Amino acid sequence: MTSIFGYATPLSSKLFSRQSKLNPNRFSITKVVGLGFAGRRRGIVAMAAPVNKSEEEWRAILSPEQFRILRQKGTEYPGTGAYDKFYEEGVYSCAGCGVPLYKSTTKFNSGCGWPAFFEGLPGAISRHPDPDGMRVEITCAACGGHLGHVFKGEGFRTPTDERHCVNSISLKFTPANEN
Ligand SMILES: [Zn+2]
Repeated sequence: MTSIFGYATPLSSKLFSRQSKLNPNRFSITKVVGLGFAGRRRGIVAMAAPVNKSEEEWRAILSPEQFRILRQKGTEYPGTGAYDKFYEEGVYSCAGCGVPLYKSTTKFNSGCGWPAFFEGLPGAISRHPDPDGMRVEITCAACGGHLGHVFKGEGFRTPTDERHCVNSISLKFTPANEN
């Protein structure tokens, strides 16, 4: 937003000074520019604002292990994550940016050593072909944080026959009674 704001300010003051010489009704111009900016800003927020942080900024807010997994696409050791065998009712959000990703009602026991979900919240998860050429990587749609991989057709008795295999460290759980 700084680029738009930085652009709008000199433009509006330029119009302001030029207009004030020609036309005493100068306030209308500032008002229009101001509303345009506010409108744009509201629109982006409603679409769940993308989170763009530099590597340095992420390092400052994440633990070294969170940074290794979320930003460097690492994998936690199987069976060690906090949510591997965890089945409380609530919502799992991105540990990087806080956007809700999965409901506990879509979590199931896959026995693979990582939390497994059969479905993400609508629009919350992005999919990318993994550099290994075989798997599909899943990331937080808002901040691009690495979550894990998604597998299909493994025969789990779930509504989607998909398994979102997610690192616990990429998630932050909020119990249902705190929502
Ligand atoms: Zn995120």
